[in-house]
Amino acid sequence: MIRRSFLKNGSGALIAAAMPLGANALELHQLSGAQRFKVGQIVITALSDGYVDIINADTLNGIDEQGYEASLIEAGRGPGAWQTDVNAYLIEDGTRKILIDAGGGKSFLPTLGGVPDALRFAGCNPEDITHILMSHMHPDHVSGVLGAKNAAVYPNAEMIIHAREFDFWVTSDAHARLPQMASFFAIAQNVAKAYDGRIKLHSGTDVGLPGIIAEPMFGHTPGHVGYVIEDGNEHLLVTSDLVHHAVVQLAHPEVSVAFDVDANAAVAIRHRVFDRVVASRERLIGMHFPFPGLGRVERDGSGYRWVAEERQFF
Ligand SMILES: [Zn+2]
Repeated sequence: MIRRSFLKNGSGALIAAAMPLGANALELHQLSGAQRFKVGQIVITALSDGYVDIINADTLNGIDEQGYEASLIEAGRGPGAWQTDVNAYLIEDGTRKILIDAGGGKSFLPTLGGVPDALRFAGCNPEDITHILMSHMHPDHVSGVLGAKNAAVYPNAEMIIHAREFDFWVTSDAHARLPQMASFFAIAQNVAKAYDGRIKLHSGTDVGLPGIIAEPMFGHTPGHVGYVIEDGNEHLLVTSDLVHHAVVQLAHPEVSVAFDVDANAAVAIRHRVFDRVVASRERLIGMHFPFPGLGRVERDGSGYRWVAEERQFF
């Protein structure tokens, strides 16, 4: 009887989900990811764009397959495919709606593209976004600002980028020297075209937004930056792409990733920032830490480890 009314009410999907997996298994997808936390009065919403599965022993340099697997096992993760989260963040200060990065979008990879739905889930439409702060111009961070036919997804947003970053990907002749990264250059240039006339470049720490300053973390890309968000006596450091693999690159901070433009500089800044935040116990967010990517870094032997922060309710 109960079962019949269940079926009548169209809840067959629930029953199907409880059946053993087989040929008729449902094709499941993760739900929209949006999670809020506060820094003083500033509300930050972590937005999940999805994941990439290309950060592994093949793309990490400075560790072999055995060392990679051992590192995962030591962290209690077991071997196997590693999914690297791609996060973006919405900052609401009561006046502005600021995105930090925009994810890569479906046009870049089919495993990405969650940011617009996550934004809507958080009560925000793309037209509401006033500013987009870019950590850097790699496609998993910028491609999400482009929609069909490379049109701007965020029609009213001013985009703020470090001048060195914009120069490298858009204005300089670096693309001629690095043909293996041709698709990355093309995406950055499409972004520059779509947002032409409303891109603001900065070259220091001042991004022109109260409560937010940029912190240069050059290495991963020439103008890769983090951000410090402050309100009252609360403080949050946005570490952007200081880490791509939240287990292996914390346990072994000397391990670089094939996408680092200057791997030595990326390793050096990783050490410098993590030594500082271990001492200060600063709260961090990062675009490739496990969603929502909020936590702290602690020292662990000769490296570090990630400690996720509990979810806040308010
Ligand atoms: Zn990235």
